[in-house]
Amino acid sequence: MSFKDLGLSPAILDALDAAGYTEPTPIQAGAIPVALSGRDVLGIAQTGTGKTASFTLPLIEKLMNGRAKARMPRSLIITPTRELAAQVAENFEKYAANTKLTMALLIGGVAFGPQEQVLNRGADVLVATPGRLLDQFERGKILLADVQVMVVDEADRMLDMGFIPDIERIFSLVPPRRQTLFFSATMPKEIQRLVERFLNNPERVEVSRPAMAATTVNQLLIRVKDKTPKAKRDALRKAMDRDGVKNGIIFCNRKRDVDVVARALQKHGYSAAPIHGDLDQSTRTATLEKFKTGEVRFLVASDVAARGLDIPAVSHVFNYDMPHHADDYVHRIGRTGRAGLQGEAITLAGPEDGKSLAAVEALIGTKIELLDAKPGDAKPKAADTPAAEPEATTEDNAADETAQPDESTTSDSPRPEGGARRSRRGGRSKSRSRGKSEGDEKRRDEREEISPSSGGGGKILGFGDDVPAFFRNS
Ligand code: AMP
Repeated sequence: MSFKDLGLSPAILDALDAAGYTEPTPIQAGAIPVALSGRDVLGIAQTGTGKTASFTLPLIEKLMNGRAKARMPRSLIITPTRELAAQVAENFEKYAANTKLTMALLIGGVAFGPQEQVLNRGADVLVATPGRLLDQFERGKILLADVQVMVVDEADRMLDMGFIPDIERIFSLVPPRRQTLFFSATMPKEIQRLVERFLNNPERVEVSRPAMAATTVNQLLIRVKDKTPKAKRDALRKAMDRDGVKNGIIFCNRKRDVDVVARALQKHGYSAAPIHGDLDQSTRTATLEKFKTGEVRFLVASDVAARGLDIPAVSHVFNYDMPHHADDYVHRIGRTGRAGLQGEAITLAGPEDGKSLAAVEALIGTKIELLDAKPGDAKPKAADTPAAEPEATTEDNAADETAQPDESTTSDSPRPEGGARRSRRGGRSKSRSRGKSEGDEKRRDEREEISPSSGGGGKILGFGDDVPAFFRNS
């Protein structure tokens, strides 16, 4: 099947050609014709399947011949994180290059002034995170009465981040006679309820969840007996010094630890940089770019910051912290071993991680091999000798030991700004985030398993949220 068979115009086909896409991915082949027919779409697909184009292309096709009025966007794309919004915007620009469509991006960390100018002139597409959108709506900067197509991307992530009330509110602000394109990787009950309430007889288009048996990711475990952060960081560096480590992502459960670990690694001479939701947008974008070009070898990240990022294949994933939720483990290690390349995931487990480890092993259906059991695997380098070891600073230790879940694990969403947002929510947003960690926000136990579809066929190369499903067909 070709993109032409899907009913797309030459302007879009040329842009796809320029992007080097030769054929639609399964989610694109399934969702684009349905969206073009005007029906609502419930797309069940993960990052890496080509889902962004599956809603962006029909959106462009449908909007191509109209014009937006001032402050009245004709379509809305809601994403859970700034990074994802920026990526969607990037995709839109690529696919709409041969059209006159305009787009505004409304996310924390990006100056509103220039975006306001675009909106005032009339934006065809508005890409936004929920909080930012509602802020600007309440300030009267945007009217949603002309929205013809509303896209919700990564709905299950919105749930994880506590955005469902915002999404419900946005749905109540757009016209009822709109088209909705709704995407989620999983279908927990809350998302199912949202779909039933706000979508109109949607066609469900589902691409298979990658298998839970990694064939290309070598999974290893390091037991860190000593509970101190220093012992953990020592173990991490040993893992990073293994043969074959080209680059990698180091996952921490808490934002504060992301900073501490990145700083400690830099002190030891590693090329490492942090990425989490408290960093401003330009820093995050610059860090990601440096990682993509190889200028930075190791990205230290929180789950939320890393989620949805279009990061090229990495040789290694390191779990500095055992994830609170087993399926985060699967998402994390899916960052390596992509597209048939061999990858390695090394997880540090402390004495307190027994339960989480058991949950991970139950989910993946196997015991993770102990790295310590492999003689000669860990190759210490000069920086690990006591002489080269910069004493962990008081600051580091303090940060490690006093990390407060309240502050260090708030979501990556833009923080509430100004009175309007606070008054809108009353005490709710406070009670929602205070005392809750990224993990606590999750209600994953209610998630439904998505059965692998028989349609994908072919060899399954890896797993996690980044394995492009269409690679499996090649
Ligand atoms: P997504 O799941 O939307 O994040 O897309 C994952 C990656 O696949 C992105 O880098 C896209 O640019 C790329 N991609 C999307 N559709 C295609 C296609 N039909 N052929 C090749 N690459 C694609």
